[in-house]
Amino acid sequence: PDSPHPFWQIIRVVPDFPKPGIAFYDITPLLRAHVNAVIDALLAAIPQPVFDAVDCFGAIEARGFIFASLLAGRTGKGMVLVRKEGKLPPPVANKSYALEYGSDTLEMQAGLVPANVLLVDDILATGGTLSAAVGLCEAAGHQVLGALVLLDLVDLHQPLDMPLYTVLQAKG
Ligand code: 5GP
Repeated sequence: PDSPHPFWQIIRVVPDFPKPGIAFYDITPLLRAHVNAVIDALLAAIPQPVFDAVDCFGAIEARGFIFASLLAGRTGKGMVLVRKEGKLPPPVANKSYALEYGSDTLEMQAGLVPANVLLVDDILATGGTLSAAVGLCEAAGHQVLGALVLLDLVDLHQPLDMPLYTVLQAKG
């Protein structure tokens, strides 16, 4: 960690999880006693004109669900879900992608009213999850305004081709 943000005193970095060589940033201790401060910090990271344009937070399973739910509850905006394969009834858009460790498939409901979506997740690592989520939003007819993540592991991904709003950064 290269940031003096007080959240760093609470985040745990677990070596070799879930696979050898991977440093896993465990943000769950933040949820226990500081969840409102986390939501305050996420909201403060969104420029006002972007916030005003957001219709829905795009919640990426699973930890993105937590933050997007709390953001939606706080702001009165909506949520659209980016889920693991097989959870949503048809019609769905479907996209496979590479993870920092392994691969996965995400789905999003198609055929709904188009929305301006700000994607939300806890951590940005390789960017594979986010780019799959962008592809899904576009396939479902939504406009992606950018992405909001608590922690950006800056060395693990190329520059994104959309605005990125973050609270914490680490080299990964
Ligand atoms: P990416 O697709 O950018 O490589 O990985 C991001 C996704 O994997 C996010 O959904 C995030 O929750 C999860 N992830 C990747 N690395 C970590 C990590 O170190 N800690 C946690 N908590 N999640 C991670």
